This record gives sequence, C-alpha cells and structure tokens, in this order.
Amino acid sequence: MKLGIHVSVAGGLEQAPDRAHELGCNTFQIFISNPRGWRPTILSGQTATLFKEKCLEYNIEDPIAHSIYLINLASPKDDFRELSIQSLISNLINADKLGLSGLVTHIGSHQGDGLEKGIERVVGALKQILNDSTCCAQLLLENTAGAGNLVGKNFEEIGEIIRQVDSDRLGICLDTAHAFEYGYKIQTEEGLETLLAEIDSNVGLSKLKAIHLNDSMTEYGSNRDRHEEFGEGHIGKASLTRVINHPKLKRLPFIMETPKLKSGQAGKEFIDEIRNLQK
Ligand code: ZN
Ligand code: MN
Ligand code: MN
Repeated sequence: MKLGIHVSVAGGLEQAPDRAHELGCNTFQIFISNPRGWRPTILSGQTATLFKEKCLEYNIEDPIAHSIYLINLASPKDDFRELSIQSLISNLINADKLGLSGLVTHIGSHQGDGLEKGIERVVGALKQILNDSTCCAQLLLENTAGAGNLVGKNFEEIGEIIRQVDSDRLGICLDTAHAFEYGYKIQTEEGLETLLAEIDSNVGLSKLKAIHLNDSMTEYGSNRDRHEEFGEGHIGKASLTRVINHPKLKRLPFIMETPKLKSGQAGKEFIDEIRNLQK
C-alpha cells in the first residue's frame, strides 16, 4: 500500500524523504514553496539530486506536492490569476526536478461572478500552465468541500474543466473529507460506488492519481472543510477502510493531511495500523 502524510520541508526539501521514511511512509506530499507567499523556490541541482537519491533508497513511490494556499485560477482579477499561473508553473518545473509524480492544486473561487465564467477562466489558465511547463509531473485538481464560490465541489464541474482542457497531464486528486463534507455519501458502500461512478463518467477513473485520506471533523454535507484523523471523525474507520481496500482505488497513493499526524501527536504506530487495514 502506498501510504503517507503531508511532511514538513523545514530545514530543506531534502529533509522530506527522511521524515517520511522515519514515519513508515512509502509515499508523501510536500509544499515545494512557502504556501502563504508567491515567492518561487530556487531549487539547486544538488538538492534535487539528494532528494531523488533518498526517495530511491527508501523505496518511496509516487511522491507528490501540494500547491500554495493562495492559488485562484477562477479569480476575476487578472493579476491574481497570473500570479497563480506562474506559481503553478514554477511548482511543476520543480516537481519534475524532484522526480515527483504530481502536483495537487485547489481550483479557486469565482468570487460571485458565476460558475460558468469561473470555469472559463480556469480552463484558460490551465491551458497556459500546461503549455508553459513540460514533461512529466501531472497537475491534479482537488475536489472541495463546497463552501462559497469555490469551483470544483463535484465531479461534474471538475469533469467539465478536464474535458475542455483536454491534456493527458491533467488529472484529479480525491479528498475523502471534502467529498463527504460536500455531500457524497462515502460513509456507505453504495455511496462510495455512486461517487466512483460519477468520477468515472465525468472524468474517467484513469485520471484519478491520488487520494487525500482524511476523515472529517464536521458532519455529512456541512460544506465545512475540517480534517480529522483516520477513523476519528464522522466518516469513520470502517468506511475509510472500505476506501483503501476498494479494487479501483487500492493502487493509488493515499496521503493523510490530518492534525495529529501533521503536529507529530500521532506517528509511526498509527500509520502502521492503517497500513495493516489494507488486505
Ligand atoms: Zn488541498
Ligand atoms: Mn486535501
Ligand atoms: Mn481540506
């Protein structure tokens, strides 16, 4: 099973593979640049080589990155959209240098301008990003919990974007907490099947490249994005165990972005326990 967490890169990007390995992870997610600022990371060849060597040594598979928090590809403001585009291009180029398989990003908010206009802007921005970055790392659109004017709460919206951009470098990342908070009934066997059928018909399951394996602190359909530790939230252990054992999902990298794992209050034991739940 490819299981990992979002690891800190404090002290240097090359620290990430060590941190993941010490926790018993064989995949992980990182921020390539400061998530609260626009400044791009200047990555040295030496750091990239060291990073890749460590991933190889520890048998890390499909490590990925997450974009910065500020990204808004649907913004009505041209300058804001341009900053988002440049940030994602820079992150994608560095992701390639680090040997990462993908870069997860939120799509953004149309800020009251309407979904149609929002999607139009997102499609234009994504085309530019994929055109101005080359090679291998996939750009993965993440579903949201459905608050406010955010684009990408369901796979109809995401599918529309994917179809219009039409690039084999564009894929998706499913966040289990966001899906549940939006209103996908992933807590039941039937609901999970419905969700996967919706992903398949709108996007294609082959475009699903990563799972954010988060439980939810808020209730079903809350539209409120609050992550909870695996099995300790409203989705629950049995339902998330069903997710990691689903024949259509079990090959994917599962990344946990939850509070205790992030802060170090939960660690290797907890991760090993979850790994043992995949049959
Ligand atoms: Zn995210
Ligand atoms: Mn997520
Ligand atoms: Mn979230």
